[in-house]
Amino acid sequence: MDEKFTITQQQRLTELNFPEEELNRTFESREERDKAFKELEKEGVKHHRLHLEGLMGIRHQTLAMESEKQMEGWLMGEGFTRVATPSILTRPMLERMTITREHPLTEQVFWLDDKRCLRPMLAPNLYEVMRDLHRITRGPVRIFEAGSCFRKESQGAQHLNEFTMLNLVELDGVAEGQQMERLRQLATGAMEALGMDDYQLVEEESEVYGTTLDIEVEGVEIASGAFGPHFLDEKWGIFQPWVGIGFGIERIAMIKGGYRTIKRVGKSISFLDGSPLHL
Ligand code: ATP
Ligand code: MG
Repeated sequence: MDEKFTITQQQRLTELNFPEEELNRTFESREERDKAFKELEKEGVKHHRLHLEGLMGIRHQTLAMESEKQMEGWLMGEGFTRVATPSILTRPMLERMTITREHPLTEQVFWLDDKRCLRPMLAPNLYEVMRDLHRITRGPVRIFEAGSCFRKESQGAQHLNEFTMLNLVELDGVAEGQQMERLRQLATGAMEALGMDDYQLVEEESEVYGTTLDIEVEGVEIASGAFGPHFLDEKWGIFQPWVGIGFGIERIAMIKGGYRTIKRVGKSISFLDGSPLHL
């Protein structure tokens, strides 16, 4: 007789992060199955307990936070300054990003009322800040922000409704024609800072952003880079070459931790640093 784990058992083992193969095991009898389940559950609970104890006793920061810090340290060394802008955007700011009614992102925006929404990206605010800083300094502007972005997503394994974007931008840092090379250089530097050496840089054509450079790890997009001059720039009062890359911090943590679902490493009251709090 082929006995499989019950749905409830499978859910529990999934919560404890056991791999797919483990969930699909078959057994001669129910007793054997239940015995195996108990053993696995015990092993999983022990693993996560140790993990959480290590987090609270030694590491003191999650993989996501550690990744953000690694990026921050590297960026400051490269002359980038961290800024913080509001999570609430006005409609005109979003529209200037061409996220008008026809754009696919429109459907994903959380509106607070007629005029204000939760930012789905950092770019609009960074456009403003880098333009103003350039007006003041007249020289290269290198800034970055790391903060929550919000998108209504159909909740796949790689999407959160609230996630942490780290977006770096450099205005007037390289001459026209050298933006892609600079993007590749920054992407490579970031991956080195993160200690991730198995990745692909993928060039793509995008309607809104022109030629873009994605960073992919194991087929998962962890960052998207774009550059200008670009048709949107004029609306923002920007006339010099720029490059920018937006990283998904939880995507990075998910890959580093070897997790199959991003919710384990997202902002949560059910999971902490990949481990379930319901142990
Ligand atoms: P995808 O195609 O995977 O939905 P995207 O191309 O729409 O992502 P971008 O706008 O390029 O995303 O955002 C930059 C980065 O932010 C992405 O490369 C990804 O790492 C991260 N990101 C985007 N949306 C989400 C989300 N809903 N949850 C977690 N991370 C996200
Ligand atoms: Mg992208």
